[in-house]
Amino acid sequence: MGNEFSIEVKVRDTNGTYTARYKRVQASNTSGAKQAVQQLSKKVFGKLQRIIVSRINHCEVSRTAIFKVTPDDTQKCRVCGCSWSNACSDSCYWVEDDLCNECVGDDDE
Ligand SMILES: [Zn+2]
Ligand SMILES: [Zn+2]
Repeated sequence: MGNEFSIEVKVRDTNGTYTARYKRVQASNTSGAKQAVQQLSKKVFGKLQRIIVSRINHCEVSRTAIFKVTPDDTQKCRVCGCSWSNACSDSCYWVEDDLCNECVGDDDE
């Protein structure tokens, strides 16, 4: 079962600095490979998108770790119910953890 929305992120460890890379997007971090992946994912999927990170491979020789990052599709808008794979519009993004930009103002609390 493939997930067409997942991406493969490569992380290089250069003397304690972890650089995650996906296409032309990069993020560096000194606290760990996973943290670098999370930082990079925010640039790719947006700051509020929850993600699932799993490690695919680790090559000791090249010191490159490969991670699979998948947007968490259980994260849904509380008003319209849209998610990453089922966006309510082309320009839909999270303004809150569970509220998309299309539904701002429609939410009577
Ligand atoms: Zn919505
Ligand atoms: Zn939406």
